[in-house]
Parts: sequence; structure tokens; C-alpha cells
Amino acid sequence: MKIYKIAVIPGDGIGPEVTSSAVRVLETVGAKCGIEFEFTSCDAGGCAIDKYGKPLPEETLDVCRASDAVLLGAVGGPKWDAVEPSLRPERALLGLRAGLGLYSNLRPALMFKELSSASPLKNVEAIDILIVRELTGGIYFGKHGRSDSAEVLSDGSVKGVTAYDTEEYSVGEITRILREGFRYAQGRNKKLTLVDKANVLESSRLWREIAASLAPEYPDVALDYLYVDNCSMQLINRPSTFDVIVTSNMFGDILSDEAGMITGSIGMLPSASLGAPGTPGMYEPVHGSAPDIAGTGKANPLATILSASMLLRWSLGEVAASDMIEKAVRDTLADGFRTPDIIGDSEGCVAVDTEGMTAAVLQRI
Ligand code: NAD
Repeated sequence: MKIYKIAVIPGDGIGPEVTSSAVRVLETVGAKCGIEFEFTSCDAGGCAIDKYGKPLPEETLDVCRASDAVLLGAVGGPKWDAVEPSLRPERALLGLRAGLGLYSNLRPALMFKELSSASPLKNVEAIDILIVRELTGGIYFGKHGRSDSAEVLSDGSVKGVTAYDTEEYSVGEITRILREGFRYAQGRNKKLTLVDKANVLESSRLWREIAASLAPEYPDVALDYLYVDNCSMQLINRPSTFDVIVTSNMFGDILSDEAGMITGSIGMLPSASLGAPGTPGMYEPVHGSAPDIAGTGKANPLATILSASMLLRWSLGEVAASDMIEKAVRDTLADGFRTPDIIGDSEGCVAVDTEGMTAAVLQRI
């Protein structure tokens, strides 16, 4: 019997509710597939501020580093809105990304056909996009600062204080994420779209040069390029034609929210953040801690359950178990089970709460 160590960070708001569902799903699928899990629950986010005075205790990072993978709920909430920026719950996420060396963020935007009425787009039959976002470079991590300028603008006013944030990417950072993009495309529909702003940005031109130089190593993958402004339009216009999108940190941040939205509810979207092969990846729903519905039983657990399925696939290589969860989720939706966020205008559906949805998935594994 294989035993995997999983660090579980329930976090705040609906985080504990949805991670509890995902843990039960992992246990059930594990029992079917001969896999055992050793779960260690750790604190991060607002609950860690309350207990330890900081959002990411060293102990949590140590447990995560010693695990095969990390499953996270969500962090944050109005209770901690007033704490100083360096101690905010969300800093825990940055600390985990940096501490675990997570440089690639995978966000699948998959539309289940049963939920097509929940999509804001009309007449879309299938969406299955994988966005690969670079996670530790670019403008979010480049030089930031302010300077003072006495320069006079064309209307006669003085520039004054000037703030700047710098987009910086190295060959090493670009190459490793592009290679991931190519590899994921090889395992899917063999199309890779590099999204950039190469008509304006030097850093984007470097992305294109490297992509073109790597392409011959992946002859089975069709590589194309899109400017980010055009991509944001094409995601609405022809979402079914995309396969894998690879892009920089900021463009990926924005486009993955757009792609997620067109598939329906935020309560359905899983994600993975991965580092070097053999190191623990972190899996979490795309949504936040949803303080408005915490404790009401309205939270949709499927995003976290699907994150657990990604964990099995990408960190543990347990593909059959991962497939089993995805099938159980599809069957649950096909049988009409709906939490309030996905009830839409579907007729004949069974309205359920977090527990009801979890039970329906467990029954179908
Ligand atoms: P949110 O994702 O928590 O909620 C946005 C809306 O979606 C809310 O109406 C919420 O009720 C709904 N929603 C979210 N998840 C749902 C689910 N599983 N089922 C049904 N409905 C769901 O975003 P927000 O309101 O902007 O942020 C709330 C808190 O979460 C903030 O403190 C924010 O900083 C934090 N946050 C954390 C993460 C993370 O931990 N990765 C990500 C985003 C936001």
C-alpha cells in the first residue's frame, strides 16, 4: 500500500468546509485504489495570525516541505482587513509560493456541458483550456519604487512623484515555463498559444524568441502567438479553439480569471502551483474564503475536490484515482446535483448544500 504525506491548510472562511470535503473524497478514492494518505493539518492565513501573530508560521512551511503535496482551502477575510500589509493573510500565499519554489501555476478552465447554462456566453458547447501562468517573475516581482521628477508635461504641469513597477524576465525563467507549456500541450490537444505583448514589450519579444527556438524540440505541438489584448477578445469569441495557453505572471493572472468566468461558477475552478519536479506542489480552489457564505452550507466544494484530483495526477502520478474523481464529479452534475452558485435555470435539478454535494460525489466514486 502506498502512503502519501499531504499537508492540508484549511485556512479561513469556507476553506475548512471545502477542504474537509476534498479530504473525504481523497480517502474514499484511496480506499478504492490502494492508496493511503497521511494528512497533517496546518495553519496559515487569518487563523494563523490569531494564533501565532503571523500569517505563515515556519512550522507550516516545514510540514509542507516535508510532504508529497499541499492542499489549501483559502485565506483571508474582513476580520484581518485592517492588519498591516506585511502581515495580511494573503501574504501566506506568497510565502508558500516562495518557500516551496512554485513557479508555474496551472489553471484549467473546463466547462462541464451540464453547466453550460451557467456560462455567461451563449451557444458554447465545450471549453477545455489549460492556462499555464509563470508565477514567480515578471512585474509582480520586478523593481518597484517611486522617484520624483521635475520634468514638465505637454500641458505645463510638472510630473512630480512617479511610481514604477518593472517587467523583468530571464532566459532561465522563460525557458522552464515554456517547456512546461509544450509538455502539457503534448499530453492534451497539441496546441500551445504564447500570449504576450511583443508589439510593445522587449520582455515579450524574448519570450517569443525562446518559444521559437524550443518549438523544433516539440514537433507534434502547433505553436502560435497572440497579443494579450487580442487573446482577451478571442477567449470570448472562440473559447473552444484554445488548448494550452502559456503566459507571464500578470497576463496569466488576468486571463485565467476571464477564462474561469466563461466556464460558469468560481466554485468549480481548481488550480495547481508547481515547482521543480519531485518537489511538493500546492493545490487549491481558485476562489477565496467567501466570508459572505462561510458557515451557511452554501459553499460549492467541487473546486477543491477537483484540486484534489489535480493533486493525484500532477504530484502523485495517480492518474486512475484522479480520473475516478473527475468521473464522479461529472456523474454528480449529470445526475442534477447543484449547489446554489450553479443552480442557474436548470430544470429538474436537486438543490444541495456543501454536505449534500460532497455526499453525492462520494457515492459516485
Ligand atoms: P471570493 O472568491 O472569496 O468570493 C467571491 C464571490 O464568489 C462571493 O460572492 C462568494 O460567496 C462566491 N464564492 C466563492 N467561492 C465559492 C464557492 N466555493 N461556492 C459558492 N460561492 C463561492 O473572493 P472575495 O470575496 O474577493 O475575497 C474574500 C476573501 O478571500 C478576501 O479576504 C480575499 O483576499 C481572499 N482571497 C483568498 C484567495 C486564496 O486564498 N487563494 C483568493 C482570492 C481571495
